[in-house]
Amino acid sequence: MLSMHGSGIGRLIAIGTACVMSQESLDIPEYLIAKKHISDEVHRLRAAIAATRVQMIQIRKQITVDSPPEATGFIEAHLMMLDDPMLAQQPEELVTRLQINAEQAIARQSQSLIDVFEAMEDEYLRTKGDDIRQVVDRIQKNLMDIEPISSTDISDEFSDPIIVSRDLAPADTLAMKSRNIRGILTNLGSPISHSSILARSLGIPAVVGLHAATRYIRHGDKLIVDGRYGDVIIAPDKNTLTAYRKLKKQTLAHTRKLDALIKSPSVTQDGERINLLANIDLPRDTRQALNVGASGIGLFRTEFLYLNRAEIPTESDHFNAYMRVIRRFNRQPITIRTMDLGADKQLGSNSETALNPSLGLRGIRMSLGRPSLFIPQLRAILRASAHGRVRMMIPMMSSLPELFQVLTLIKETRKALREEGIPFNPKMQIGGMIEVPAAAIAADLFAPHLDFFSIGTNDLIQYALAIDRVDDEVSYLYNPLHPSVLRLIEMTVRAANRAKIPVTLCGEMAGDPKLIEVLLGLGLRQLSMDPANLLEAKAIIRQLDVNKAKKVSRRLLAGKEV
Ligand code: PEP
Ligand code: MG
Repeated sequence: MLSMHGSGIGRLIAIGTACVMSQESLDIPEYLIAKKHISDEVHRLRAAIAATRVQMIQIRKQITVDSPPEATGFIEAHLMMLDDPMLAQQPEELVTRLQINAEQAIARQSQSLIDVFEAMEDEYLRTKGDDIRQVVDRIQKNLMDIEPISSTDISDEFSDPIIVSRDLAPADTLAMKSRNIRGILTNLGSPISHSSILARSLGIPAVVGLHAATRYIRHGDKLIVDGRYGDVIIAPDKNTLTAYRKLKKQTLAHTRKLDALIKSPSVTQDGERINLLANIDLPRDTRQALNVGASGIGLFRTEFLYLNRAEIPTESDHFNAYMRVIRRFNRQPITIRTMDLGADKQLGSNSETALNPSLGLRGIRMSLGRPSLFIPQLRAILRASAHGRVRMMIPMMSSLPELFQVLTLIKETRKALREEGIPFNPKMQIGGMIEVPAAAIAADLFAPHLDFFSIGTNDLIQYALAIDRVDDEVSYLYNPLHPSVLRLIEMTVRAANRAKIPVTLCGEMAGDPKLIEVLLGLGLRQLSMDPANLLEAKAIIRQLDVNKAKKVSRRLLAGKEV
């Protein structure tokens, strides 16, 4: 029995079997083939490609019917690549002509294809190189008889898989939504990295930032994952297993008890009503938001519509996605955030191209620079506004000229729709996220131009405390109660109140039971959170007293203990 400790995600415990994902780069062998063995080598190559095809078809079958269409699109695109003569025939010619082994032939051919894509101007096409890499990696593993385990094809070997991986990109985590995953363990990551947020919304326990999980945990090991405290137990003994089974039941029972609160009002002891909204990543998360009685969608992270798919979403893809949410939440507000791509949510995995991606081209900065991605989304949001209480929200606002540029673009898009006779709500509310300290400090200057604010504390903390939210080495510095973070929140709330515009807080802080009191004390009355946290938050709110909360926040703002 061995135990490890990292940052826990979720409120549950998982007991299952380790499914270690190999992410090491492969050592490709290189040798010459005698002339008489060339046809055997070609045959070996064909067999590996055929095996790859069978595996992919198998994965496609495992995609459940309610999975997002992008999940199938991803696999279809990879299957098509296998049939492309560039991968199916050219390497055979290399084997024959240069008398090299199949692994080398496929490596050389794929590298020249990747080079072609990477030289392309269009950023989206450049990411196609990653797809080639993934397909080729699978062919190589088949050639070398290495068990292919990757985020997109978790083997069916275990009925209770716990994913153990060096890292998970948000796109990988998203792909797991359709799998029967019991838990996730990663070497890297912090509690507010996008992958962790996604893991939380999967409703399965995870522990991130374990440093050496992939070194100490072997494929097939029995594991206990305690998402509440970040504990991992490898090969537990009988007594530990029994104790955790009991705990697991208790945590589940507690969750059921919370279900009784769905219809109860979210009101403090002294009668203050707190509006609880839901954060969603994909339209299908709406179901969970409804199940916990959320009073609307406070944050729809639309960038996930761009991930794990072969093509960029069109205007109608966007519109259809928004309509799926509107149909379920037809009377409540739906806050659609324009795409926040960049940083750890890249199209493909080209994050290495930016020197410092979280300070680089991300959110509204990227949108303004990529009108071909952004305009279809603006049009779709405006069109959706004719059908429900849609609000548009701008991520990563950092300067007024940038805001004016967005507002002008929205105005022009409205004009175009009007000329085309396409209906939209001309009064659709436009809000901005306050998640860059510059925007919090100058919130009073932004407020007159916007209909609402939403405070994104995940980024606000990252930028205010200078701690990369995906870097586990500095996650010990993550402190949402740091007086400077609380002061930035307070400044924003004050600016919103003065300008008489509503303000919500939609970072992970909103759903943290320990932090709700201070947020109420700072004047927040609207919180948007992962639906998985909403009922627990309501239970806490119903116990709180706003006057007492104000005292708590005053002490913390002054840097005192409570
Ligand atoms: C935030 O930054 O707090 C936020 C809600 O946005 P995201 O986590 O998607 O960056
Ligand atoms: Mg953010």
